[in-house]
This record gives sequence, structure tokens and C-alpha cells, in this order.
Amino acid sequence: MPMYDYKCENCGRFEKEQRITEEALQECPECGGKVHRLISKNVGIILKGPGFYNTDNNVIKDRVRSLNKDRQVDNQALLDGDVKSYVKESENTTHKALEA
Ligand SMILES: [Zn+2]
Repeated sequence: MPMYDYKCENCGRFEKEQRITEEALQECPECGGKVHRLISKNVGIILKGPGFYNTDNNVIKDRVRSLNKDRQVDNQALLDGDVKSYVKESENTTHKALEA
């Protein structure tokens, strides 16, 4: 199962192993505080950079769908190709943005 990074407003960062299909945590398992999911290490697709927000997986999926539609690109081709390299390139920038 993939590990997800979370940031609790009270406790700080922690990791949690979750199934891909599991919902993102909303509450900290330690203190019940509000948590935000950070960049996942090895899961699915997360679009980052200008025009993309990684606050919510469903938002991201919707964006991927609309992106596909707009560009008339086959979904699998998009997943296998440009998006991955695009995500990789923008990962450092996004990490900085999240931790700022
Ligand atoms: Zn906490």
C-alpha cells in the first residue's frame, strides 16, 4: 500500500499507509486536529503547478478529465506520458509551496 504524507495543524507531519481507494484523512489520528494530505509518494496522478491544486483528489481527477477532454488526448496516453514528467518536474516547487 502506498504511504501518504499528512500535515496535522497540531502535531505536524506524519505518514500513513492507506489503500489507494481509501478517503484522505480529515482528522489527525493522534489529536483529532485538522490534517492536510501532502504530495503522495507513489500513488496515482497528482497534477501540480500552474492551474492545478492538490488539495483534493476528486478535484484533481476532474481536472484530468477536463484536460483530456480539452486536448482530446487519450486518457491512458496522458497518464503514461506527459503528465508524469510534468509532475516530476514540478514536484520540488510544489513541496516548497506546501511547506511555506
Ligand atoms: Zn495531530
